[in-house]
Amino acid sequence: MNYYSLNKQAPKVSFKDAVIQGIAPDRGLYFPESITPLPESFFKDFANLSHQQIGFQAIRQFVSDDIPNSVLKAILEEVLDFDFPIVEIEHGVATLELFHGPTMAFKDVGARFMAQCLGYFSKDEKSEVTVLVATSGDTGGAVANGFLGVDGVKVVILYPSGKVSDIQERQLTTLGQNITALQVDGTFDDCQKMVKSAFLDDELLEEMQLTSANSINVARWLPQLLYFLFAYKAVEHKQKEIVFSIPSGNFGNICAGMIAQRLGLPVKHFVAATNVNDTVPEFMLTGKYNPKPSTATISNAMDVGDPSNFIRIQHLYQDNFEALKENLSSYAFTDDETRKAILKIYKDSGYVADPHGAVGYLGLKKYQENRPDTYGIFLETAHPVKFLDVVEETIGTTLKIPSQIEKVMDKEKKFIQIQNYEALKEFLLSDR
Ligand SMILES: *Cc1c(COP(=O)(O)O)cnc(C)c1O
Repeated sequence: MNYYSLNKQAPKVSFKDAVIQGIAPDRGLYFPESITPLPESFFKDFANLSHQQIGFQAIRQFVSDDIPNSVLKAILEEVLDFDFPIVEIEHGVATLELFHGPTMAFKDVGARFMAQCLGYFSKDEKSEVTVLVATSGDTGGAVANGFLGVDGVKVVILYPSGKVSDIQERQLTTLGQNITALQVDGTFDDCQKMVKSAFLDDELLEEMQLTSANSINVARWLPQLLYFLFAYKAVEHKQKEIVFSIPSGNFGNICAGMIAQRLGLPVKHFVAATNVNDTVPEFMLTGKYNPKPSTATISNAMDVGDPSNFIRIQHLYQDNFEALKENLSSYAFTDDETRKAILKIYKDSGYVADPHGAVGYLGLKKYQENRPDTYGIFLETAHPVKFLDVVEETIGTTLKIPSQIEKVMDKEKKFIQIQNYEALKEFLLSDR
């Protein structure tokens, strides 16, 4: 199976080349040439399958022969070695907890899977691959952790100064080895622009193999489809119509959910819940896509004004707005509404949600106003302690710090400050 570029100018490539390149030479995102539904028997046998077995069946077609089955199985054993529990918090409302991985962010699965694939592919490459990634919060930590110590791969992470939480900053600045953190004097959009400039810089590209570990990379994006399968395995109410509400920023996670649906997973509807960065909610109202600069919020991993994966979603629906509307609703919520939701969930059920999960909860409740008999699952994408100040202040209780986080709390932050693209380029060229 090959991947084509959504800009339609670049040649098709294998999974391996799509992973190594990150983005196509014509600057388009790669998209799988085909999506073959899994047999019905697969979904019937679900209860008897392990996460690794489900993962292998679902992901194999996308990896094709580029990774042998035995290696792919071993990769999935390692990547999926933690829990993905469903917790019911109200009648007809459950949360899928995706934060039990090493950095307590849902990005752990994608980041680790991509790191393992790239590590496998770079075994027969002569030169090193440099992974360049911009983060508004959680990507950096998950990528740093996933790639730590992977041979033949160097990682450079750009993050906006003062705009990620203390814990997030520690997770991406304290590891060392093949990981370097660059603190940018600017916003997340500035970081993302600098990364994009690097990918367009022929002078740089001649000198090094650069790739992206943002969710534009198919190896980061596609494994996220497994969450939706794991949720289905865990829900007891399989006879009800299932709705997923996904707190969305770059729209990689929700787009992966739609791929799971194309594989045959019975999903009634998707809800894309956002903070005030409402480019997609507005698109779903007006049919006009108007990217904007991002606004800082308490759910900072979703502060994205021009979501990079939305083009993949539109492509899945062949740019048919009416067809997309049948399957997707999208709502935006303010920080004030998010705080109130965190408090309401806590008071009603004792459950502590993080700001991203709370946005997902709000989106689900809004959808269920008119469809109360659906079974709703909102994704909890980060552990609440990663947003300690906001959560503790809102619910008026102190949270217990899990061991994964405690490990980084007293380590020294190491980063290089940069102001502009020239400084990034200079760093990349000097660091070879
Ligand atoms: C990255 C992230 C999101 C958004 O995911 P996308 O795939 O970019 O839409 C939501 N919540 C948390 C905690 C994240 O880290």
